[in-house]
Amino acid sequence: MALEELLAAQGLGPRDVAALALYGRLVLEANRHFNVTGARTPEEIARHIADSLSVVPYVKEPYVDVGSGAGFPAIPVGIVTGMPLMLIEATQKKARLLELLLERLELQGVVIAERAESAGHRPELREHFATGTCRAVASAPAVAELLLPLIGLGGAAVLQRGSIDQRERSALEDASLMLGASVECEDEVGGNRRIVLLRKQRATPTRFPRRTWAQKRPLCE
Ligand code: SAM
Repeated sequence: MALEELLAAQGLGPRDVAALALYGRLVLEANRHFNVTGARTPEEIARHIADSLSVVPYVKEPYVDVGSGAGFPAIPVGIVTGMPLMLIEATQKKARLLELLLERLELQGVVIAERAESAGHRPELREHFATGTCRAVASAPAVAELLLPLIGLGGAAVLQRGSIDQRERSALEDASLMLGASVECEDEVGGNRRIVLLRKQRATPTRFPRRTWAQKRPLCE
């Protein structure tokens, strides 16, 4: 089935369908030159887009996405909300693709081509954002450590997860407390996917994110 039809079947309006389909085609084209995402077919791209859009009700400006890869979830969020995007992506080649995608899709945004472990210590980014996402990058406690230093007081880190076992949940709760946040809610969004929202309540101690260990040795795991 064509990407447009798959997207229209998700209940999206014609303007969003056209822009998201262009995005999907650009990603599939880029994938022919280097491995930017595991999605290889219009059906897989449509599934990634649907999963990306599940965060829209939780996202507020200013918005940051960490480990953006080919742009899921941030670029679909930018397309349907018009929000400016801050994309932090460690791989230079993917960061260049993200810049190209922003330009071709006429989206407002900035790409930072570095690891979140260092971006999270930049004064202009630290505790600056109302919402952060970080899809398919690391375990939940590691994602909390990458995102929460970027989130301002009262803001939220929005984690997209599959099933979470008790061990990961309690590691996430403990890590969130160390990072100045707490788990506010866990919402089922269909297809064995859930959104876990971490609400920032206190400043994150300046030693986080740890420059080497945030992903290698996640907090509390
Ligand atoms: N978020 C996209 C998605 O859902 O399709 C990409 C997921 S991909 C599996 C993980 C991406 O995160 C890769 O592009 C990788 O380069 C990036 N990444 C991993 N660790 C990172 C870090 N510490 N800081 C910034 N980017 C990171």
